[in-house]
Amino acid sequence: MKVLQNFINGQISESQSHRFGAIYNPANGEQIRQVVLSSAKETEAAVAAAEQAFPAWSKTSPLKRARVMFRFKALLEQNMDRLAKTISEEHGKVYSDAVGEITRGLEVVEFACGIPHLQKGEHSANVGTGVDSHSLMQPLGVCAGITPFNFPAMVPMWMFPISLATGNTFVLKPSEKDPSLGLIMAELLKEAGLPDGVFNVVNGDKEAVDVLLTDPRVQAVSFVGSTPIAEYIYSTASAHGKRCQALGGAKNHCILMPDADMDMAANAIMGAGFGAAGERCMALSVVVAVGDDTADTLIAKLEEKIAQMRVGPGLTDGPENDMGPVISAQHQEKICGYIDSGEAQGAKIVVDGRGYQVPGHEAGYFVGPTLIDQVSPEMTIYKEEIFGPVLSVVRVSDYETGLALVNHHEYGNGTAIFTRDGETARQFSEDVIAGMVGVNVPIPVPMAFHSFGGWKRSIFGPLNVHGNDGVRFYTRMKTVTSRWPASVRLEKHTSAFVMPTMD
Ligand code: NAD
Repeated sequence: MKVLQNFINGQISESQSHRFGAIYNPANGEQIRQVVLSSAKETEAAVAAAEQAFPAWSKTSPLKRARVMFRFKALLEQNMDRLAKTISEEHGKVYSDAVGEITRGLEVVEFACGIPHLQKGEHSANVGTGVDSHSLMQPLGVCAGITPFNFPAMVPMWMFPISLATGNTFVLKPSEKDPSLGLIMAELLKEAGLPDGVFNVVNGDKEAVDVLLTDPRVQAVSFVGSTPIAEYIYSTASAHGKRCQALGGAKNHCILMPDADMDMAANAIMGAGFGAAGERCMALSVVVAVGDDTADTLIAKLEEKIAQMRVGPGLTDGPENDMGPVISAQHQEKICGYIDSGEAQGAKIVVDGRGYQVPGHEAGYFVGPTLIDQVSPEMTIYKEEIFGPVLSVVRVSDYETGLALVNHHEYGNGTAIFTRDGETARQFSEDVIAGMVGVNVPIPVPMAFHSFGGWKRSIFGPLNVHGNDGVRFYTRMKTVTSRWPASVRLEKHTSAFVMPTMD
């Protein structure tokens, strides 16, 4: 069985670790590969390679670094089919959704191609008489990325294209559940002309991560994953003097107003609730329906649509499925446990995805699309992130109660409102306590040239990923104030002992 290794200093590096993780095809439950779980020493070797590569790469002109990104973008496009099939095989999502994820990552690469412009800094002439001021946005050094299973291509590409383009070197620790994409992207970066050691991949678990959080040579850590781990990453990396952005879990609500276009909303809610089997940090998991009629109308439409959904493997020879399996047997069990708890606490299971069987794929990790009505805020299924194809409906009598629900939830990643009323939508956008807001848009994921990030316990750290925040995260500002004497003979040189002010 193929063992996935590390990529250090421009080549595959055979691990000496005796610990391995198993990689499964979630569509049939078969183990397809193994991945090394690297030792601390091996992780340190990757950091050392990145440290060694930093001086030359950081001095390479931004234009040359951007040209590597241009070639990398072209290679991603040429390899799209291979990349998407690998994602689908290891993660389980349907092929076209895997293409969609790569495309969203590729857009960050396109953004990073503009780095000569983005990293220009600022300049002010004559801040004082004959005095100019300019800022340099300089790279930090070795940066690390620790990424989740649900977007094995896109989430790493939220991080490393901007980090590399701004002149940093990088160590990626991908999810051990679907690690192939990290290694393939490392090969493509090398083919694009990236010098050895600038981008490294260390496969592993907590042992590898802890080195990245504590090694003094690592300057910045970018993390995406569940909230308890995000808290650990942020506190440990910060305590070791590193810059850190740690994006965590979510419980995305949408408010469905009685005046919404119900067909448009139902279609949007279906895709956002059940796409990628609900394993998206921006998946919609709670619909807050304003008024019983609104809830009844929506539920009738959703029931009809769910009955028509095609659930099965992500890769097929025939027509594509709408939804694939979840990532693992344990996760399948956990999701079904949540549905059990909802039922036990008095919610109404309208469509039940427990025990879902796909003919020919009986050992696959499938959970059918699940719709639960009469969910209330005290229930576990309301409070906790389920990360599966489970959509809850909470009924409220008015908009204010709905807004208060969204605002009181501990997570604040994405949220949406469905309405035809511009004033309600505008007020919602202003008052809602969440980082990303959709108006009749169910998954409001900002484009690469804006920044992505939630609020509350969905993020730790002041800067979001990609867009201008991404450039700021991977650079530090140096401000130079300069005066050039017109002539040494004409200047009177005296010492000043007061705080300098310009005139
Ligand atoms: P996870 O937290 O289990 O793992 C994420 C990464 O952390 C992996 O690389 C893993 O190896 C590492 N890790 C796990 N346990 C660790 C430990 N004890 N110490 C150090 N490192 C550890 O998350 P996951 O299950 O891979 O991904 C799903 C989660 O990610 C969900 O909660 C989802 O909401 C979240 N997510 C959030 C966003 C966002 O933008 N906010 C995006 C994608 C996913």
